[in-house]
Amino acid sequence: MENNKYDWIKEELNKIRDQGLYIDLRTVESAMGGRIKVDGKELLNFCANNYLGLANNERIVTAVKKAIEEYGIGPGAVRTIAGNHKLHNDLEKALTEFKNAEDCIVLQSGFIANLTVIPAIAQENSLIYSDELNHASIIDGCRLSKAVVIRYSHTNTVDLRNKISEADPNIKKLIVTDGVFSMDGDIAPLADLQQIAQEFNAILMVDDAHGEGVLGNHGRGVVDHFGLHRKIDIEVGTLSKAFGVVGGYITGSNTLIQWLKQRGRPFLFSSALTIPDTAAALESVKILSESDELVKRLWNNTIIFKEGMKRIGFNIGRSQTPIVPVMLGDAQFAKNFSQKLFEKGLFATAIGFPTVAEGSARIRVMMSADHTHEDIYKALDIFKDVATELNIIS
Ligand code: PMP
Repeated sequence: MENNKYDWIKEELNKIRDQGLYIDLRTVESAMGGRIKVDGKELLNFCANNYLGLANNERIVTAVKKAIEEYGIGPGAVRTIAGNHKLHNDLEKALTEFKNAEDCIVLQSGFIANLTVIPAIAQENSLIYSDELNHASIIDGCRLSKAVVIRYSHTNTVDLRNKISEADPNIKKLIVTDGVFSMDGDIAPLADLQQIAQEFNAILMVDDAHGEGVLGNHGRGVVDHFGLHRKIDIEVGTLSKAFGVVGGYITGSNTLIQWLKQRGRPFLFSSALTIPDTAAALESVKILSESDELVKRLWNNTIIFKEGMKRIGFNIGRSQTPIVPVMLGDAQFAKNFSQKLFEKGLFATAIGFPTVAEGSARIRVMMSADHTHEDIYKALDIFKDVATELNIIS
């Protein structure tokens, strides 16, 4: 089968390896949690988006077993044809209430939610104003829409205002931003963005993937954090991070959700979320609605870790959340650093280009309510050891 058709790919792969940017996939051999087994090694886990430790929660496991016994596994088809299960409706209702929204549609992932909603509301003759550090799924959703995309400087509302005020007032406009930026952990200036959206009659959309379970009352997310319920037109969420499962959703007005159920292409043409995923997410939303204990634990852990890292002398960027970027600069150096952490018992991945800008490689530490204080102090010791060994602190 081997011929020269893929020579260009091999060359590109070699380039990626030479730059230290080749991504090696580790194999997890245990349940997801604050401590895991990876490639045969017991490790402290500081890289999962499992903010609240719900990825292996007993109550959720029990709910899933019950749902499987009753309903089986597969959704059968796309929801419009055979798959609109009662559990999908229950989950949409639970999320609508949790987010204090008007309506909700559940999709197969957060990535898919962005690919669903952006092209459904922005077309060839629309303008999209997108923060330059928005997530890849927003970027791809914008591309699919064929609208003209105007990037504004990161969280810079002055730049956004300048750009949007130049546009024809009669053209349809969308402003789109991450709520919490996934690689830096900073928060979008949502109140200011809402003012601008209102002034220029633009639709405002926020991706709350890293806000829900983290910000706001009971982890209701970035909109709750700013007290802007029903003032933000579109909220995209994921069930794969704090909720600990997989799946995505969009909340907004009933008109918007009706439109997405008629015209959202991944909703119409890709099979629905499975029974176990849906049942798990539903239980997860219930847990979070009932108690904010896990959210509080997450923040307590975050403060301990961040203070510790600053004391050691690490640059942890502009994070305002449990995403802690340990800024190292060079991609190969960050990769070596991550490998040394791994050898000493800590799993935290290096992130380089194209996920972050060239020259701004980092170890992205993700805090979890599942970490004990002992885990955190041990992690700080390991970070310090590696930094000493690699001569970045004395
Ligand atoms: N949006 C943002 C901001 C994200 O960080 C991610 C996950 N990396 C997604 C969307 C995609 O979510 P999912 O993993 O559910 O596809």
